[in-house]
Amino acid sequence: MERRRGHLFIISGPSGAGKSTLRKKLLERFPDLVYSVSYTTRLPRPGEREGWDYRFVDEDKFRKLLREGKFLEWAQVHGNLYGTNREDVEKALEDGCDVILEIDVQGASQVKKQMPESVLIFVMPPSETALEERLLSRGSEAPEAIKVRLDNAQKEIASAATYDHIIVNDDINKAVDKLASIIAQYRKHER
Ligand code: ADP
Ligand code: 5GP
Repeated sequence: MERRRGHLFIISGPSGAGKSTLRKKLLERFPDLVYSVSYTTRLPRPGEREGWDYRFVDEDKFRKLLREGKFLEWAQVHGNLYGTNREDVEKALEDGCDVILEIDVQGASQVKKQMPESVLIFVMPPSETALEERLLSRGSEAPEAIKVRLDNAQKEIASAATYDHIIVNDDINKAVDKLASIIAQYRKHER
């Protein structure tokens, strides 16, 4: 019997909207979802783990991987390079696993072109003020880097209309419920 191909779910949204928080809570509910750990040239934040949060590489290594065709998609975001490992994603989908990517809007549009059946989910902050407060409270970036991220937020939000689903992350528990129900809806169609 032919094996079911997995679903590809892509989560995007401005920095500080709560994507990582939501994704981690989602994975607690659906431990069989495969999270594709991206490559980045950004430096690790305190507490971030190699191979868990990101695969941290320098720019030479990133460009080598790019030349070798290793990325399903890649983009420059907030001044750093980020990319998704093609082989990991394709293998997991072929094996019938559902995969989650947490990538920016440029990367999401590259993947949607290659895999039109992928499901795009946009995480929206409840307000600009909340977004700024969350970035400040996370405390992971210097003020200049926070400014870059807030400046980019408007451009990213302008792409939300092209997404299949929009989740406003006001109350975290409600937002996780919404995200989980979207995932369950696609899985239910075939099981
Ligand atoms: P992103 O991955 O989109 O950049 P994070 O998940 O790192 O965002 O969240 C940014 C900050 O906002 C973190 O400190 C996180 O704990 C906090 N946060 C996330 N969701 C909420 C929420 N619904 N209400 C309040 N704070 C939140
Ligand atoms: P952060 O530096 O806050 O972890 O991530 C910054 C931005 O880069 C976020 O919008 C995040 O979704 C995006 N990002 C993370 N990994 C990738 C990736 O592999 N590809 C692309 N295009 N964007 C990514």
